[in-house]
Amino acid sequence: MNPSNHCIVIGASHAAVQLIISLRQNGWEGNITVISDEDHPPYQRPPLSKAYLANTIADEQLALRAPAAYQKLNVTFKLSTRVTSIDTQNKQVHLDSGEILGFDKLALCTGARARPLPIPGADLNAVHYLRTMDDVKGIQASATTAKTAVIIGGGYIGLETAASLNKLGVKVTLLETESRLLKRVASPQVSAFYLRLHTEEGIDIRLDTQAAKLLGDQALTQVICADGTAIDADMAIIGIGVIANTELASDAGLTVDNGILVNEFAQTSHEDIVAAGDCTNHPNPILNRNLRLESVPNATEQAKAAAASLCGIEKAYAELPWFWSDQFDVKLQITGMNQGYTEVVVRGDINNGRSFSVFYIANNKILAADCINRPKDFMLAKKLILQGTDCDAASLADESTDLKSLLI
Ligand SMILES: Cc1cc2nc3c(=O)[nH]c(=O)nc-3n(C[C@H](O)[C@H](O)[C@H](O)COP(=O)(O)OP(=O)(O)OC[C@H]3O[C@@H](n4cnc5c(N)ncnc54)[C@H](O)[C@@H]3O)c2cc1C
Repeated sequence: MNPSNHCIVIGASHAAVQLIISLRQNGWEGNITVISDEDHPPYQRPPLSKAYLANTIADEQLALRAPAAYQKLNVTFKLSTRVTSIDTQNKQVHLDSGEILGFDKLALCTGARARPLPIPGADLNAVHYLRTMDDVKGIQASATTAKTAVIIGGGYIGLETAASLNKLGVKVTLLETESRLLKRVASPQVSAFYLRLHTEEGIDIRLDTQAAKLLGDQALTQVICADGTAIDADMAIIGIGVIANTELASDAGLTVDNGILVNEFAQTSHEDIVAAGDCTNHPNPILNRNLRLESVPNATEQAKAAAASLCGIEKAYAELPWFWSDQFDVKLQITGMNQGYTEVVVRGDINNGRSFSVFYIANNKILAADCINRPKDFMLAKKLILQGTDCDAASLADESTDLKSLLI
C-alpha cells in the first residue's frame, strides 16, 4: 500500500474509531486524518442517556479508546473542526477554518443529529436535546436545581433519560403522541411492559399527548399540551428521533436516499469514498433488504467493511442487526428486525415480571426477539433466526423447553 496516500475520516465516533483501527489492521500505511466538529476525543454515545447522565461513570470512562491507542495508530485528529464541503473532482475537503485538505480516500462517518421539535419555546433555557456529551453536561446542570422534568418522546432515548433523571431525584413526566410507547419498534405487548415498568418506578407517562408549546421567561416553566393541559416543569428533554447527516454527501453529488447509499462493501457512488454508521442506507444480505440503522454494532461492523474497501479488500457487511437498552434494572437486548411479523410469542411473565422474551414470527420463522433480562435467550434467539428453523410457538412459549433444543 502506498505510504504517501492520505485517508480523511469525517466524524470521530463509533464508526470512525473502528474504521481507523481496521485501516491499520488491513495494512494502510499512509496518513490518516480524523475531523470532528465536536470538542472531545471519541467517546461512547450509549452511556450518555444511561450511566453517564445518572452520574455513575466519569468522563474518562466514556472514552472510546485511551489516548495512547491513537498515538499507536498514528492518527491526526482535528477536533472542533467542521467539514463544510467535499470537492470530489479535486479530491479535497474544505474546513470551516478555511483550510483545504487533499485526500486519496475519504470515509464519511457523519452519523446523525437530534431531530428538532418545531414548537414555540423549544429554544428556552433548560430545554435540551440528547445526542452529545455537551448535551448531557447541559442536562446535568439543569438537573442540579430542577425538581420536575418533562420528557417529550417515548422512544428509547426518552425512556432511558426518564430512568436516569429519576435516579437523580427529578420528578419526571413523559409525553408520547402515539397511543403506546416504542410504537415504531416494539409490539403492543412490549410497549405495555415499558408502560408498567416506568409507572411502577414513579414516571408519569402520558400517552396520546402532544407537546404544543413551551412557556417561560428565558427559562422553561411550563409545557402546554395540544389538549390545553399545562404541566409545570423546570426542565425538558426532547427525544423525538434523529436525522442522518447526509448533506455533505448529497451536496458533493453522492447518491443519498434515506441515508448515504452504499453497497455491502460500504462503498458510496464515488469509487474513493466509503461511508459507515448511522448516516448510511445499506443492503443487508441476511434480511434481503436495505436498512438505515441507529446502533453501535451497525456502526462498528460496517466500519470494518469500509476500511477493508479502502485497502482494496472485499469484506461484505452481513450481520443480523442487534441493539440494547438499559432502563432501571431492566436490560433489553434485541436481535433481528421485527418488521412484517404476524405473530408474537411470549416466554415468561410479561404481565408481572421483569424477565421474559418476546419472539416475533412470520411464515413460521422467527424474525426477531426482544429479550428482557434474558441474555441467554438473546444468544439462542440470534442462532435460531440465523438458522431459519421452522419454529414451534408452543415450544418457544414453554419455559420448560430448553431453547437450545430447538436449534438444528
Ligand atoms: C443517548 C444515546 C443513547 C444511545 N444508546 C444506544 C444503545 O444503547 N445501543 C446502541 O446500539 N446504540 C445506541 N445509540 C446509538 C449509537 O450511539 C449510534 O448508533 C452511534 O453513535 C453511531 O455512530 P456513528 O459513528 O455512525 O455516528 P455518530 O455517533 O452520530 O457520530 C458522528 C460524528 O460525526 C460528526 N460530524 C457530522 N458531520 C460532520 C462534519 N461535517 N464535520 C465534522 N464532523 C462531523 C458528528 O458531530 C458526530 O460527532 C444511542 C445514541 C444516543 C444519542
